[in-house]
Order: sequence, then structure tokens, then C-alpha cells
Amino acid sequence: MFYWRTTIASDGDACAVDLGFTGRSAGRGSGPYAGLNLGGHVGDDAADVEGNRTALAHEIDLPRERLVLMNQVHGADVVEVDGPWTGEPPAVDGVVTRATDLALAALVADCVPVLLHDARAGVVGAVHAGRPGMLAGIVGRAVAAMRDLGATAVSATVGPSVCGRCYEVPADMAQVAARTSAASAARSWSGTPAIDVAAGVVEQLAEAGVAVQWVPGCSRESGDLYSYRRDGRTGRFAGFVAQRRASA
Ligand SMILES: [Zn+2]
Repeated sequence: MFYWRTTIASDGDACAVDLGFTGRSAGRGSGPYAGLNLGGHVGDDAADVEGNRTALAHEIDLPRERLVLMNQVHGADVVEVDGPWTGEPPAVDGVVTRATDLALAALVADCVPVLLHDARAGVVGAVHAGRPGMLAGIVGRAVAAMRDLGATAVSATVGPSVCGRCYEVPADMAQVAARTSAASAARSWSGTPAIDVAAGVVEQLAEAGVAVQWVPGCSRESGDLYSYRRDGRTGRFAGFVAQRRASA
């Protein structure tokens, strides 16, 4: 079920943090969604998607309603959440929380999933950062939202996404991205202009004073990840982060 997963052990009174990225193995999806598709509105069977979301929640030892998903819109808005949404999820691309036993998730299929955590301060966040989000500076806004909730030493775990060599774009689009983040300038496998969105996000995190761990992997090159660039019609995998109250 998991492409990569880790736990940051609790330190004194601090909560442990459970975080990771799902893969395609396991899951109920079929056809182009085969595997653990967690994305709604991508054409997959709604009952299969809900079954997969329930399976993920169960695997991280939480009731389904405590797995919090966003209505992602490639924007730059970040909100605080303190429990399951009442009603429809808001149209945001970042969420932060001080709550425990609440998993925040970002859905991706080439975009960059960013998990933010300050275990000692007890604040975590999840961000969906695609090319528009990188250009709009969403990770900087999410880090600021973490600090508004008391985080002082924010760390980021950046998940697998489409790599720069696999993300060929028109030259003018690459130039726009490079003006926002020089680190995003890339070349494709055929030597043409490309964008390394994750490198841009990592540069923005570093500029915000955040310690970065970058999980290896390219979604387009890994069969264990969903990739829109590779497949077009496909599912979504997730980055998730949850604080766990230390058991007595
Ligand atoms: Zn690649």
C-alpha cells in the first residue's frame, strides 16, 4: 500500500508523527485506475475510491472520517483544520493542524506532495504543489500557516513527483518558472526546455528556513505511482501526515 512511510518518534511530551506516500499496490481500482486510487472526480468508481480511502485510514489506524482530503484547485490557499470537514471539503491546496489522530492528505499524480511537520511544537501540514502552486508560492504560505500555529522548527518531507527530465514544456513556460525559481530550470530527456517543479519547491522550502527530506522517485517513471503525464486518464496517490498522541 505504501510507496514510502516513516514515523518520527515522539520526543518527551511531543507527539509521534506518522507520514508517507501511498503506492498503487493493493487497492480496489481497475483499468486505468488499477491499484489504490484515492482521487475522486477522475472517472473511477466512487465506491472503489471510498473503499480505498477507508483502507488507507484503517492502515494508519484511524477511522475513515479522520482522513482529511482537500478539494484541490491548483491555488495557493492554506487553511487550518481541527477535525473532519463539516460538509464539502474547501477549495484549498494546503491544510495545517494542531489536532492529533487526524491525517491530512494531498492527492497527486505528478504534482509535488509536501508534508510539513514540527513534532515538538505539535503542528503538521499537507500541501499539493503543482506548477501553478509553485509559481504562486504555496509552500511559503503553508510554512507561514504552520508558524502561526506555533511551529518554530518546520521540517518538510517532499514526496515523489514527475521529474524535470519527464516534464517537457514550451520554452516560454519554462522561462516563467525559472523567473520564480531558478532551481526549476531543467532539460527533458530529449534536451528540450523542461521544468523541475519539485526542485523549485525544495528551493522555496530552503529559502523559508525549512529542513528538507526529499523522497526519491519520479511518478512518470515508476509503475508504482500514478502519473498523468504518462497515462492521461489515471488515479491519484497521496501524501499523508498525522500526529499520534503518545499512548499512555
Ligand atoms: Zn522522470
